[in-house]
Amino acid sequence: MRKPSQKNIKIIKERFLKRYENARTELNFSNLYELLVCVMLSAQCTDKRVNIITPNLFKKYSNVEQLADAKLDDIKELIKSCSFFNNKAKNLIKMASAVMENFGGKIPLNEKDLVSLAGVGQKTAHVVLIEYKQANLMAVDTHVFRVSHRLGLSKAKTPEKTEEDLTNCFKTELHTLHQALVLFGRYQCKAINPICHDCFVQDFCQSKEGFKAR
Ligand code: SF4
Repeated sequence: MRKPSQKNIKIIKERFLKRYENARTELNFSNLYELLVCVMLSAQCTDKRVNIITPNLFKKYSNVEQLADAKLDDIKELIKSCSFFNNKAKNLIKMASAVMENFGGKIPLNEKDLVSLAGVGQKTAHVVLIEYKQANLMAVDTHVFRVSHRLGLSKAKTPEKTEEDLTNCFKTELHTLHQALVLFGRYQCKAINPICHDCFVQDFCQSKEGFKAR
């Protein structure tokens, strides 16, 4: 697999920015608290599923303070259709308690403090910062990983290293590019049966021969 030239990376970037000009997350949220909870729930789970779960959760627990005082069994019940709901329920309460104890009830908006919260890794922190304040950061989920490898933008074996490669390739407007790569991977460059005939970056794809052969 060859890494695209700087010129081609620029073209790929421009095409994604044009196609997904106002790309944003499909998670439904109305404030930072809801965003953080949504992103924590979305790990290994679909946004669709999270959007089904959260209305009832937010009706009962509408802020960090209420969530910090929640009973574990109640949260488990409310999020039980989510993958890994046992761990996620524990982490949600721990996260809220830590925000109350360590940050005066205000969710911090920087990476270092965010990752100090239970259940919040670098990817979750980046997605929150990307979505909430359009931070120039990349985050790599399964879709971003697949697309960036198919386009030769990264050969890395881990999401962390892939994130570094994408950051080095694109440098700016990473928040829009992150969402663009997620949506492109989710709906077009799918893991199985990607829609290659109608792909706007087909000329740069390093996997399409493989798909054609099937
Ligand atoms: Fe994905 Fe197909 Fe486009 Fe390649 S040609 S980037 S596999 S949709």
